[in-house]
Amino acid sequence: MKKAALFLGAICMSLSMIVPEGSSAVQARVVTEAAVGKKNETSATSGSAIKTKPQRPSKPAKSNKPVKKNNNKPVKKNKKKKHKKQPKKTVYLTFDDGPGSRVTPKLLKVLKDNKVKATFFIVGYEGKANKKLLKRIVKDGHTIAIHTYTHDYRKIYSSKKAFLSDFHKTEKLIVDTTGVKPHYFRFPGGGNNHYMSKKLRKSILKELHKEGYTEMDWNCGTSDAAATYYSAAQLIRYGKTTHWGPDPIVLLQHDANTKYHTPEVTRALIKYYRSKGYHFSGLSDYPGPEMCFK
Ligand SMILES: [Zn+2]
Repeated sequence: MKKAALFLGAICMSLSMIVPEGSSAVQARVVTEAAVGKKNETSATSGSAIKTKPQRPSKPAKSNKPVKKNNNKPVKKNKKKKHKKQPKKTVYLTFDDGPGSRVTPKLLKVLKDNKVKATFFIVGYEGKANKKLLKRIVKDGHTIAIHTYTHDYRKIYSSKKAFLSDFHKTEKLIVDTTGVKPHYFRFPGGGNNHYMSKKLRKSILKELHKEGYTEMDWNCGTSDAAATYYSAAQLIRYGKTTHWGPDPIVLLQHDANTKYHTPEVTRALIKYYRSKGYHFSGLSDYPGPEMCFK
């Protein structure tokens, strides 16, 4: 329980360094996902270096108790403490689009067997259908975060009001079901998707920062959103090789029902990154900064 006030210097990554923004491949992917009603992000495809740029600090949260607590402490002290707690060589495993009854239970078992904490970006309507899994995610000590209720690009990115309404519906579901108030969110399609104008993104972020939320994109991925038909071996290979920029690693995967390789891939990646000296943690222990594609 910490957050937004800590993220005074946010890293904004240029996705164009990874996947050219005008890339027809990316556009086609996003359009296809929306057209068929699937719930996936665009994904990283290379390990290029990133540019970092300071972002305007988010304003203190008005209605978020844990953030208020942090606001009463010197930011420097908090930052130092958090960095000390989390080694730089940390992997933050993140799973979007669940919880799904076919994949999430198996994934939770893999995480438990390996004593690994991770983060789940919840799609509200899936959470509503799987409330026991929402509770189990929290009970197992993972970080629960928001990924909107419908994940419907055309709907949520039609206006600020539409996005926030959808977002808060998910927030309410999570709070009512688990008693935990999330602090992180991830835009469906990532922070620089082609359905959201820069102006809209800015206005949504302004509001969510006020509410104490931190945006979290990713800097590594298995590409499981881009191709349903990749073998587990291929996904593992991407998960090992697509990290760009400095540590820590924020690794994107999905636990929707169609992502049946995720538990196996996760087990292999845990083994691999442990062998490289990495530690694992949920984003509740992430020291910052905010990570967002631009
Ligand atoms: Zn998604």
